[in-house]
Amino acid sequence: MPTHTKIVESPYGVHVPVSDIPCWVFSAGTEVTRRSPQYFDADNPAKCFSLHDAETYVKQVACGIERLGLRPNDKVLLLSPNQLFFPVLLWGVIAARCVFTAVSPTASETELSYQLKDSGAKIILAHPSAAALAVRTVKRLGLPAKSVWLFVNPGEKVERSSHGIQPWTDFWCSPEDVKSWQWHRITTLKEAMETTAIINYSSGTTGTPKGVELSHYNVIANTVQITQKRSLVADSPEGRARKARLDVSGERWLAPLPMYHAFGQIWYCMNAAQIGAKVFIMNKFNVKKFLHYLDIYRITFSTMVPVIANMVVKYPDSQSFNLKSIEGVVSGSAPLSPDTARKLKQLYLSEHATVKQGMGLTETTCSLFQFAPDDIDDGRSIGWLNANCKAKIVPVQGDDYSATAAGDAVVGEIWVSGPNIMKGYYNKPQETAKTIVHEDGERWMKTGDVGYVDELGRFYIVDRLKELLKVKGLQVSPAELELAILQHPDVSDAAVVGAKVNGLDYPRAFVVRKSKNITAHDIEELIKSTFAPHKWLTAGVYFIDVIPRTASGKVMRRLLPKVNDNLDSKL
Ligand code: AMP
Repeated sequence: MPTHTKIVESPYGVHVPVSDIPCWVFSAGTEVTRRSPQYFDADNPAKCFSLHDAETYVKQVACGIERLGLRPNDKVLLLSPNQLFFPVLLWGVIAARCVFTAVSPTASETELSYQLKDSGAKIILAHPSAAALAVRTVKRLGLPAKSVWLFVNPGEKVERSSHGIQPWTDFWCSPEDVKSWQWHRITTLKEAMETTAIINYSSGTTGTPKGVELSHYNVIANTVQITQKRSLVADSPEGRARKARLDVSGERWLAPLPMYHAFGQIWYCMNAAQIGAKVFIMNKFNVKKFLHYLDIYRITFSTMVPVIANMVVKYPDSQSFNLKSIEGVVSGSAPLSPDTARKLKQLYLSEHATVKQGMGLTETTCSLFQFAPDDIDDGRSIGWLNANCKAKIVPVQGDDYSATAAGDAVVGEIWVSGPNIMKGYYNKPQETAKTIVHEDGERWMKTGDVGYVDELGRFYIVDRLKELLKVKGLQVSPAELELAILQHPDVSDAAVVGAKVNGLDYPRAFVVRKSKNITAHDIEELIKSTFAPHKWLTAGVYFIDVIPRTASGKVMRRLLPKVNDNLDSKL
C-alpha cells in the first residue's frame, strides 16, 4: 500500500500580507466605509461602532493594558458570551502585543481553572454573568483579586458587583492619552510568523484541551484565504448578478456563533472587518430571534452550524419570516446533512441563494476547505482546499475505508500544510510533534479526519479518526470526561463515545464500577457539576464489565456495546 496519495495542491493562490493584525484590520476599506457603523448589537442596533471608532477604542484598550504593567506575550483571558465589544477587546489585546485567549462563557470552575493555569493569563475579563465564577476561581488559584475586570460595553450601566470588580473601561487610557501612543508594527515575515496573537483551545487528535498558538501570519493568511474563496463568483449571468446585488447593498451578516471559538472569531472579528461587512452580533442564541434578525436586518450572509440549521428547518412557523435577502449560508464545525441544506433552501431562501459547507479546525486557524459561491456542490463535499494549501491522504493502518468513497479514490487521514496551520500547541512540544510532522519538504498537520478527494479536487469527510466529539459545533474531548469519571472512588474504568443521531454526536459513557453504590445518575451529576452543558452525558451512562483496550491502553471504541435506546426520540 502506498504511504500516501499524490499531494493535492489548492487550485488557488493568494497573496498574504505581512503585517500585525490590528494595523491590517484598520487599513481595510475606504474612508467612507471606515466611518460608517459596521458592528451592531443585534438586540439594540443603536449601539454600534465603525472601524474608525474602533481604532480609537483599540488604542485606548492597548495603552490601558500596557499601563496595567502587562508585557509583550502576556496572556489576557476573556470569559464572556458574545457582545458588541468582543472584537474591540480581541484587537486591543493583540495591539498591546499580548495574547488573546477566550473560554466558553458556560465553563465550569474546573474548566476555567485549567485554561487560566495552562495559558498563565495575567488578567481576566469576565462578563457580569460570569464574574462570581471568575472571582472564585482566581481566589482558589491564589491569583491577585485585582486581576479580574468586568467586561461590559462602554457606557452600559453596571451594578457594581459585591465582589468590587471594576469595569474594564476603568483601565482604558483616555482618547487624549492615546494620541501619542504608537502602533507596534510587524514588518517582517519572521516576526509575523513567530509572534503569537491568539490561543484558542482544542483537544486535537487526542487527549485533553490544548492551547492552539496562532500567529499574526496564521490569522491574516486564513482571513485572506476565506475572503478570496468567497469572492470567486463565476463569470456567468448568475455570478455577475450575484456580484451586482452585493456591490449595491454591501454584505450584512448576522453573528450567532460564539466568538471564543475559531469559527465565530475569525469570521466576525477578521473577515467581516476586512471586507467591510456589517455585523449584527447576537448576545444569546435563540432560534426565533435568529430568524427575526435575519429578516429585519435584511441579512445577506449567515454562518451556521448544523445544530442551528436543524433548529431553523424544524421551526414551526417558517412563513412568518422573509429571508429572501440572504445570498449565502456557510455551515461548518460538523457535517451538515444534504437533507437539512435542501429544506433550509426550500423553506426560507430565494432561488439564487447558496447553502454550502465549509470545514476547518482550530489548528488551521479556522477554515481549511470551502466552496466559492458558484462552485458545483453535491451537498456532501466540504469543498476545495483553501488557497496556498496542500493536502495528502494517508491510508489508515488496519482500516479499510474503501467502501466509503465513490469510485477508487484512496480514503485515509487528511494531512494538510499551508500558511494557516498553527505554530503548535502552547508549551506542549511533544503534543505538537505528534500532530505536525516534516515530510516531503513540507510541514504537515494531521487533521485526524478521514476522507478522500474526487477527480474535481473536492474533498469529502467520511469518519473521524480522532477521539474528538462535536456537540452543537463545539468540541468535547472524551479523554477529559473519562479523566473526571475516573476520579470517582467507585469507578475502575471509563470510556466516553459519541452516540450518533442525524450525524451529530451526543456524549455517552461506558463505565466499569468498583461497587454497586454508584448509579448512572451519580455519574451524570458528576459531569454536570464539572463541565459546561455541551459536555453533559445526554446519551446516558451504561455499566459494563470491561472496557476493551489495546495493549497500549487505547480504548477500542468500536468494540464497545451497541446501545439501542431510541435516543432519537428522547432528544
Ligand atoms: P474545531 O477545532 O472545533 O473547529 O473542530 C474541528 C473538527 O470539526 C474537524 O477536524 C472535523 O472533525 C469537524 N468538522 C468541522 N467542519 C466539518 C464539516 N463540515 N464536516 C464534517 N466535520 C467537520
